[in-house]
Amino acid sequence: MAHGKVFLVGAGPGDPQLLTLKAVEVLKEAEVVVYDRLVSESILEFAPEDAEKIYVGKSSDKHELSQEKINELLVNKALDGKKVVRLKGGDPFVFGRGGEEAVALADKKIAFEVVPGVTSAIAAPAYTGIPLTHRDYASSFAVVTGHQAADSEKPVAWGRLAGSVDTIVVLMGVGSLESTAKALMKGGLSPDIAVAVIEWGTTEKQRSLIGTLGTIAIEAREKDVMPPAVIVIGEVVNLGSRLSWFKIPSR
Ligand code: SAH
Repeated sequence: MAHGKVFLVGAGPGDPQLLTLKAVEVLKEAEVVVYDRLVSESILEFAPEDAEKIYVGKSSDKHELSQEKINELLVNKALDGKKVVRLKGGDPFVFGRGGEEAVALADKKIAFEVVPGVTSAIAAPAYTGIPLTHRDYASSFAVVTGHQAADSEKPVAWGRLAGSVDTIVVLMGVGSLESTAKALMKGGLSPDIAVAVIEWGTTEKQRSLIGTLGTIAIEAREKDVMPPAVIVIGEVVNLGSRLSWFKIPSR
């Protein structure tokens, strides 16, 4: 093959059955698989045994390949003529830095395709019985990052969000839960509004904590909530107790 190609593929939120047919198809043909921390091991098994598998997430000594190095790796493997699958948790274009990788590929005129995935922002609430919209409670939702990089060019406008969106979904938000809750209450949200924190959604480790905006940060600390977790804020959270359906599969 003269020219390689890169597939930016969503691996889904955790439950391997939420992988798309297209993701399986491109994985089966992969020569190189570059994957992240939140990708289930069982998904890698769809790739041929002899495909080169490169882990670029955080390692035990907490070092991760810089985004620049990952971009370079994708470009170089494609220039070698390889069919490269870049596997990302959830959807590649939802906080996965897939956008940055696509720009790097486009800049180098490398052919690429995007295979969207089921994002944890929607799937983790769904597996907790929480619909993000409902005719009676919410006609809009926003997915935002809780991880506020000091040098971010696009900081989250919490005050505006509080005043304009019915359901707020926060990814990467465990560490900053307290400041997020404060900012939303300052923006006008009631401390009584319901909040769900869903750890390891759609997996056999799924655990959810339900509280209110005023007390969730303390409760999360008491229950030792850890990432990865999806935080849902809004009236729809109250439906969870009635619609809870997911039973953790016994092994
Ligand atoms: N592209 C991914 C998000 C990447 S950012 C997606 O579309 O899902 C990483 C964040 O995603 C985590 O900090 C966490 O907030 C969320 N996340 C990913 N998988 C998760 C899971 N199984 N359960 C809960 N949160 C998850």
